[in-house]
Amino acid sequence: MVAASHARAATIITDPPLRGALTQGGFALGSTWADARITLDGVPVAHVNGHYLLAFDRDAGPAADLLITRASAVPDHRPLAIAPRAWRIEHVDAPFHPPAMPDDAFAAIRREELARIDAARSANASAEGWRQGFQWPARGRISGLFGSQRTYRGGVAGSYHGGTDIALPSGTIYNAPADGVVVLAADKPFTLEGNLLMLDHGMGLVSAFLHSSALLVKEGDRVTQGQPIGKVGMTGRASGPHLHWGMRWREARLDPLLFAPAIA
Ligand SMILES: [Zn+2]
Repeated sequence: MVAASHARAATIITDPPLRGALTQGGFALGSTWADARITLDGVPVAHVNGHYLLAFDRDAGPAADLLITRASAVPDHRPLAIAPRAWRIEHVDAPFHPPAMPDDAFAAIRREELARIDAARSANASAEGWRQGFQWPARGRISGLFGSQRTYRGGVAGSYHGGTDIALPSGTIYNAPADGVVVLAADKPFTLEGNLLMLDHGMGLVSAFLHSSALLVKEGDRVTQGQPIGKVGMTGRASGPHLHWGMRWREARLDPLLFAPAIA
């Protein structure tokens, strides 16, 4: 027997084993019998020979129910405790201005963009990136944290930040954090996201990279971890050049910082 050493700070072992961060915006990898059926809060979870991924939205509640069922065995309920997080509040000392009523032309463009994003999210490509250790797409100063909540004068809450921002000069090449299939590569800048690139890592896990000055891959390309995929820029709604990296598992919005190794 060899003692297992899984020396990641956020490692949590339950039975059956789950490895990762059971926390808002976090994820865990698990393994069970190859013939098991898995659900999380009643929704089926796919697995490959028993290996699966679970993830928890930024606003996930404190409990989730993992159910593992095998033919000829009693269904196995595993209550999971999902740790809450204290999100940074960014107070903006200005009155909250609701977004201006979009004109018809903008609304039509936006509808089309959102339809492309939705289609890309539901592509369900087969890729193995979900089970790899993730790498930083590029290294630089973290200039925006996932989940931070904006409030305005009078305590009015705006939306929260949906990804991790890495401040880098325009033109800096960034790489695939894990294997994946390119499910969206904008041919012209989206109104807000700019040149948007989306990578499907398999099992419902999707990365999005915003504001690029150029994309180095095209839709349908299969990319491997570390492969150059785009160049940092400030297209779309950005106040300076940076890479915004967002992650989702199905509808859940996740914190990329929990996927990538700690920055030394
Ligand atoms: Zn951002």
